[in-house]
Amino acid sequence: MVATLGLTACGSDDDGDSAAPQPAVSFAPGTTMSRLQDAGKITVGTKFDQNLFGLKNLSGKPEGFDVEIAEIITDALGIPRDKVNFVETVSANREPFIQQGRVDMVVATYTINDKRKKVVDFAGPYYVAGQSIMVAKNNTDITGKDSLAGKKVCSVSGSTPAENIRKVAPAAQLVLFDGYSKCADALKNGQVDAVTTDNVILLGLIDKDPDAFKVVGGTFTKEPYGIGIKKGDTAFRTFINNTLEAAYSDGRWEKAFSSTVGKVEPNTPTPPAVDRYTP
Ligand code: GLU
Repeated sequence: MVATLGLTACGSDDDGDSAAPQPAVSFAPGTTMSRLQDAGKITVGTKFDQNLFGLKNLSGKPEGFDVEIAEIITDALGIPRDKVNFVETVSANREPFIQQGRVDMVVATYTINDKRKKVVDFAGPYYVAGQSIMVAKNNTDITGKDSLAGKKVCSVSGSTPAENIRKVAPAAQLVLFDGYSKCADALKNGQVDAVTTDNVILLGLIDKDPDAFKVVGGTFTKEPYGIGIKKGDTAFRTFINNTLEAAYSDGRWEKAFSSTVGKVEPNTPTPPAVDRYTP
């Protein structure tokens, strides 16, 4: 797909910010890859309030598995780490941000599904999570999705767990915010009885506040995380999929996982096969 120029790719350093990876390839003119490489910068949408995936640190940079995955891709584009502009995308604005060109890609615990594929495309998946339930540590009456009738359950607008919980627990009272950290606050102060979203997002909330919360009932959906890009940009999607596969085989994916989600999930899973679907 791309011509190799025979230059040596310089590895980026591990802590990252000063790394200026040298592109090993030149991209076909007119592609998103060549546009981004020429611009020497990129805008990436991610979460800013999700421990383990995308959480803004004190210096203002987000950290986590999604950020690591994004940087594996931006390195492959030859974009220096300090020219990667992370902007916050919440669950509900991911599709519009991609459609409007406000971001070049979204890496944000973003489930691939057919409804979203009508308006954006996805590379990946690079991880598969599953929806679960979190309650206060001392709660005894909620044991999973089947004991939510009449309970106030918090989730996030525009997310798949919010949509799905209406189906699996129709008698629950859904309370929606724009981020899961707000749900955790609401659970802590007794405003809601439970929080529902992907298991690993819940584990990130528990990691921050281990005495307050617990997960109950296991997982009841599959949430394959993809990288959202403009619909129809097949060359960019193929490039990202190729980059993910390279990171699967040379250990960079594993390192990204173990240094982030691995804090709460000591068993590193086998990365999922990328889905080279035909739109
Ligand atoms: N993976 C789910 C989704 O994309 C939940 C996590 C989130 O809201 O970011 O909707």
